[in-house]
Amino acid sequence: MKDKKHIHEHNSIENIKIAFYLNIMFSILEAIGGFLTNSMSIMSDAIHDLGDAFSVGLSYIFERKSKKNPNDKYTYGYLRYSLLGALITSVVLLLGSIFIIYNSIPRIITPEEVNYDGMIIFAIFGVIINGYAAYRTSKGVKANEKVISLHMLEDVLGWIVVLIGSICIKLFELYIIDPILSLLISIYILFHVYKHLKNVFNIFMEKVPSEFRLEEIKEKVTAVNPVIKDIHHIHIWTMDGENNYMTAHILLNGIVSEKEVIKLKKSIKETLNDLNIFHVTLEIEYKNEVCNDKNCDKAI
Ligand SMILES: [Zn+2]
Ligand SMILES: [Zn+2]
Ligand SMILES: [Zn+2]
Repeated sequence: MKDKKHIHEHNSIENIKIAFYLNIMFSILEAIGGFLTNSMSIMSDAIHDLGDAFSVGLSYIFERKSKKNPNDKYTYGYLRYSLLGALITSVVLLLGSIFIIYNSIPRIITPEEVNYDGMIIFAIFGVIINGYAAYRTSKGVKANEKVISLHMLEDVLGWIVVLIGSICIKLFELYIIDPILSLLISIYILFHVYKHLKNVFNIFMEKVPSEFRLEEIKEKVTAVNPVIKDIHHIHIWTMDGENNYMTAHILLNGIVSEKEVIKLKKSIKETLNDLNIFHVTLEIEYKNEVCNDKNCDKAI
């Protein structure tokens, strides 16, 4: 069992490495190809692949760092390292897209000639090589491997679009198609950047993760046992989009023995664990206790 896992880990790292090198290679070749054919759409594909390479490479580095154990100085551990990759990749893609858009707009106004035959040959190679890479990485089972193979598939589609575009340029001598395609590809990239940044921003704001509804959690916790009169001052946040934390006050009704409190806390935590909230801190309050959290009196 242990060996099987080891082999899988090994394959998974191999696949990630292959994906990284392929993307870097594509990106450089596309930059050269884009330059030689004078095509902005191939250039924008180069930026897209550069972003993918960054994303794959950084997620590999930061994943490992984020798994380091907590210590006296970093009591949460290093989980948020995994966000850093998304942040850096987003900046790379953002700058790349701005560069492409900045260069494409003048070409829409006055289209420049492109070497469409070169583009067609390039795109055919792109479809074949990227198609093979997508096939190769599609065997991965882990979440990040699936993401990588999806990216590869996306790249194949990108190449098909460039191929069709360059055939149209050849047939109709419509050079404006090239900058239009590159704008569309840039908008597509920016849409992804927006999604990633929004996710990072929500974690930064310690927003309640989207899979939870506070009302539902309140209901579930109070349903654990009739002695639970109220749950309030709830905080739910996620460290990295996967590890969820929660603190809350639990008000108990009537006289409850130590044994019962211990049992109660255990069942509340089990209920929350089932919802995928694992790091739970509960403050137990009693009927005659006055709860005044001065620092947090606006809390729910
Ligand atoms: Zn703890
Ligand atoms: Zn309270
Ligand atoms: Zn608070």
